[in-house]
Amino acid sequence: MSLFDLSGRVAIVTGGNGGIGLGMAQGLAAAGAAIVVAARNREKSEAAVAALTAAGANSIFMPLDVGDPASCRRVVTETVDRFGRLDILVNNAGMSVRKPPETYEVAEWQAVLNVNLTGTFVCSQAAHGPMKQAGGGKIINIGSMMSIFGAAYAAAYSASKGAVVQLTKSLATAWAADNIQANAVLPGWIDTELTQEARRQVAGLHERILRRTPAGRWGRPEDLAGIAVFLAGPASDFVTGAAIPVDGGFSVEF
Ligand code: NDP
Repeated sequence: MSLFDLSGRVAIVTGGNGGIGLGMAQGLAAAGAAIVVAARNREKSEAAVAALTAAGANSIFMPLDVGDPASCRRVVTETVDRFGRLDILVNNAGMSVRKPPETYEVAEWQAVLNVNLTGTFVCSQAAHGPMKQAGGGKIINIGSMMSIFGAAYAAAYSASKGAVVQLTKSLATAWAADNIQANAVLPGWIDTELTQEARRQVAGLHERILRRTPAGRWGRPEDLAGIAVFLAGPASDFVTGAAIPVDGGFSVEF
């Protein structure tokens, strides 16, 4: 058994059609896993599936809105119907509303919590049964530097990402006996559509991140491929409830 071999494993990657989700999906696919790209934007998702397929993966698109519990449950059920099993769930779908906390509409607050936190919970809950039945599984939740730090423009986002880490610990303890490992990845500043938008909205952010990141560069989606393979395979069978930064040193420099 190779510690990093995912042949025969089946993964759902929420928001797997671009950015960090696609970077992780490409890593999982290269290690042998079949990939369900689960997101809302059909065009982007079909392009992602085409890229994964061209690289030799078994991959399909399933429409998913993580804000809708029925949609989360449907994707898990259809994955098991289609592939016969579910081994890996990457809860990557996420969004932010950037504005001062005193100006937040309650609906904006709830939208961020609903996608980033409740979506992660409901997808995990749906995955528990099939994973337990398969004899085990791997849940990979995407936190953020905002799981650790705060920001004036990110009250809802940081609340949701801090909570994702605490949720991960509870899932890890609840489901350890079912041989399901749940871990969180805390990406540093990665160049994606999300952070391109952040750079348009927050003056000076691009330069601040470059100065503040010991590695001296923004991360790239493919920087997340290795941690995905590690947390999805046998190499991490005794690792659970952890929150692992992948950040070029951003979180450790004083
Ligand atoms: P992107 O904007 O590229 O990706 C976000 C993904 O989430 C898209 O694929 C989008 O797909 C999906 N998504 C959003 N809302 C929903 C929804 N309601 N249902 C299903 N899918 C949804 O950004 P990133 O790759 O940067 O972000 C991915 C994750 O990484 C997020 O959780 C983000 O918070 C986190 N992160 C990013 C960092 C960075 O520096 N980039 C740093 C730390 C964490 P679609 O629109 O098709 O639904």
